[in-house]
Amino acid sequence: MITVVEALNILNNISIRKSEITLPLHLVNNYILSQDVFSPINMPPFRQSAMDGFAIQTDENNSYKIIGEIKAGDTENIKLSKGQSVKIFTGAKVPDDANAVIQIEKCSVNESILTIEIEPKINQNIRPIGEQIFINDIALSKDTLLNPAAIGFLAGLGITEVKVYKKPSVGIIVTGNELIEPGIPLPDGKIYESNGIMLQMALSELTSEIQVYKVFDEYQATKQVIENAIAIHDVVLISGGISVGDYDFVYDSLQVIGVQTLFYKVNQKPGKPLFAGTFNDKVILALPGNPAASLTCFYIYVHPILKKIAGNSKTTSTAIKELSHDFVVDNPRSQFLKANYLDATVSVLSHQQSSMLNTFALANCLIYLPEGNYELKKGSKVDIYHI
Ligand code: AMP
Ligand code: MG
Repeated sequence: MITVVEALNILNNISIRKSEITLPLHLVNNYILSQDVFSPINMPPFRQSAMDGFAIQTDENNSYKIIGEIKAGDTENIKLSKGQSVKIFTGAKVPDDANAVIQIEKCSVNESILTIEIEPKINQNIRPIGEQIFINDIALSKDTLLNPAAIGFLAGLGITEVKVYKKPSVGIIVTGNELIEPGIPLPDGKIYESNGIMLQMALSELTSEIQVYKVFDEYQATKQVIENAIAIHDVVLISGGISVGDYDFVYDSLQVIGVQTLFYKVNQKPGKPLFAGTFNDKVILALPGNPAASLTCFYIYVHPILKKIAGNSKTTSTAIKELSHDFVVDNPRSQFLKANYLDATVSVLSHQQSSMLNTFALANCLIYLPEGNYELKKGSKVDIYHI
């Protein structure tokens, strides 16, 4: 059985095939650019007024004749000579002959004569052409994460689509005879199926497509559904059936199908039976059925792989925090504990069993504690994984 660190290293080193796709801008939030994007225009494209006020051609004295008005969007280029001005509004094109815009608060107007209360500075309140970016310069470079600001920036340059790394298509296979869909009264001996929707929600930002398949604890059916999912999807997640019980058929099925084992079983709690493997360039992870174990393995092992396929090679978000209480570790396995941090301190939550999601629902991190027999005092530093 390998350690958590070894398992993470193995997954970190698998070669991932990234592919590109061209998508319209409204679909690329959270995607990663797969190519540099060059600006097709200067921004601003013309000398732009940064204020409501008056555009002037500066003169020695402080009064100017008002000869017209320019609104945002107007295209007329009013001719000005020294000592003349036009009323102008924010975003409007400054006449070529004007060399300053005086904000309205510094102006007084009497009939068609403007008096300014300040010494004008050349080009004040005029945004120069290309102040933000010049035509053909790189607007955003390859590997940039597209967030709302990035998408707004690109739209402002007139860009309508970009090349990004494709997010993986994921198939989730849920195994278990005992599982019943929520929505009907619970028959004796059964439980409601919850891993399917939970993993689907955890995956939603990370995938282009998710499909959930259900299968009973039967060897042939299990093998068939895994084979089909591998043929269709980039990544296959399997829930349950990966332990050593008489009705756990996932491991044998994976072997018979020819999935290359990267590792099976990790010295950790929860999630000891975790399996990782590859089939050509597909990645297959079998997660334990216990809901908290399944979700813990998802955050620690699956999430980074999915991010990597989608071009985001930033490692998992971890931090060091101080325990808000004493804690005794007495475990031959490394542990991931449901926990809550606030500022610099972190507290272990109750109900740590792998079957329990009640406190996971309130957790904002997992504390990683190496195996062993030791005592942590309040204030001890521990590693956390953000979730
Ligand atoms: P397994 O890993 O299949 O041995 O399942 C371990 C435990 O997790 C059992 O108590 C199962 O009933 C439970 N379990 C497995 N799959 C699910 C699921 N999809 N939703 C809720 N509980 C599950
Ligand atoms: Mg099972």
